[in-house]
Amino acid sequence: MTDTPTQLFIGGAWVDAADGATMPVDDPATGEILCHVADAGAKDARLAEDAAVQAQEEWARTAPRARSEILRRAYEIILDRTDELAHLMTSEMGKPLAEARGEVAYAAEFFRWFSEEAVRVEGGNGVLPDGRNRMLLSRRPVGPCLLITPWNFPLAMGTRKIGPAIAAGCTMILKPAPQTPLSSLALAAILKEAGLPDGVLNVVTTSRAGEVCEPLLRGGRIRKLSFTGSTQVGRLLLAQSAEAVVRTSMELGGNAPFIVFEDADLDKAVDGAMVAKMRNMGEACTAANRFFVHSSVAEEFGRRLAERMGALVVGPGTRDGVDVGPLIDRVGRAKVEELVADAVERGARVLVGGRTPEGAGCFYPPTVLMDVASDSRLMDTEIFGPVAAILTFDDEDEVIRRANDTPWGLVGYVFTEGLDRALSVSERLEVGMVGLNTGLVSNPAAPFGGVKQSGLGREGGRVGIDEFLEYQYLAVPVR
Ligand code: NAP
Repeated sequence: MTDTPTQLFIGGAWVDAADGATMPVDDPATGEILCHVADAGAKDARLAEDAAVQAQEEWARTAPRARSEILRRAYEIILDRTDELAHLMTSEMGKPLAEARGEVAYAAEFFRWFSEEAVRVEGGNGVLPDGRNRMLLSRRPVGPCLLITPWNFPLAMGTRKIGPAIAAGCTMILKPAPQTPLSSLALAAILKEAGLPDGVLNVVTTSRAGEVCEPLLRGGRIRKLSFTGSTQVGRLLLAQSAEAVVRTSMELGGNAPFIVFEDADLDKAVDGAMVAKMRNMGEACTAANRFFVHSSVAEEFGRRLAERMGALVVGPGTRDGVDVGPLIDRVGRAKVEELVADAVERGARVLVGGRTPEGAGCFYPPTVLMDVASDSRLMDTEIFGPVAAILTFDDEDEVIRRANDTPWGLVGYVFTEGLDRALSVSERLEVGMVGLNTGLVSNPAAPFGGVKQSGLGREGGRVGIDEFLEYQYLAVPVR
């Protein structure tokens, strides 16, 4: 903690906010203030923009191999500092240390993956169909980017954007969530140590997101927005990006269906449910939000899931043996409480959990709700907490219709032992990703992203770098 930077990172230097403002960072396990970090305003945003714009031309000319090696070095430093980074993340975000270590590895992997992709960017050439012109096709960085990240994966949401931006030759301004600025600042220090030139990455921590970001999006110098966060904020930023026709990648909210058919292996289904629901205490865009379980196995599935959920240890993420840390803040917890109360009012049975504990910290117990009514609010709201809501179904067409009956389409989970059914149901789900007999889809080598109002574009995989590249086509007459 003592070495973690708390200032803004602009043009390769650590600086205070121009007006001297700072903001507190809280520990969600205790409610106590961990430290204060610089709180950027519009002037700081302009300075960060100047630095990114100024660095862009030279950075674009850097050899891909040089960019690749910076990412590779940063990957190694991150892994070397796993424990330190995990403690930092747990202290500002709350997730148990074991999960934080897992996120450090996941976050680092984006740098390794994109260090490999940086040297594989290819263009093309050929003679056009009329025979009169040749086409030379090259890929170029899109230009200075604004990267906006949420608090739920404080390190990985940053590396998932910074990795491909560096690989493609883009400069950038990162605006992390105000709840979790420390992981991003630590990441900037690591990239500087790994040799990233000044101005390529700038980090502005702020409690004044609108004041900082809107002028950047409307100003015409930022050429790309990569946003991860709620659909509601995503919509607003899309509108702001329209004015200067800024390219956008949007990783937005989800409302994942988790479907258990009568022929599913229930052991696998319960294991999958534990991951799909409980990774990150349910504070994940990929979290299973609606469990549709065939009526013939629903009671058994609910009983087994409640047993597993009830056995989890809730407490501060730094304590040994804790499985479930606090939620991010009191607002987040109050939302979970309201959603559970609403479902119970409409007839849901509480199999386990459902009661907020007394005391400091934003804890909420793992909860399983059975017989949830379809009109409950949590059916069309991201719960973002450790609450599994179970509904039953009897027919395949019916469950697909209900699973798709939502404006979101990030991920779905399907549990069945039948191959034909597994493939046909997956194909009919309106989602960008499907976990087939597994509760975990995230992997840096796979394209992550959603359809419908869950977003635009993909992060990771072979296509992740494309979001930061433009094509340039040269027409050359054939002589
Ligand atoms: P959020 O409220 O949308 O905030 C996300 C980020 O946007 C934060 O840094 C936030 O800063 C910033 N922001 C908010 N209003 C802004 C504005 N007017 N201008 C510029 N920036 C603004 O979401 P969250 O509560 O932090 O994160 C949870 C959401 O993220 C969930 O919906 C979850 O599904 C989604 N998510 C999606 C993915 C994915 O890959 N699809 C991954 C993780 C999370 P402030 O807090 O200061 O406003």
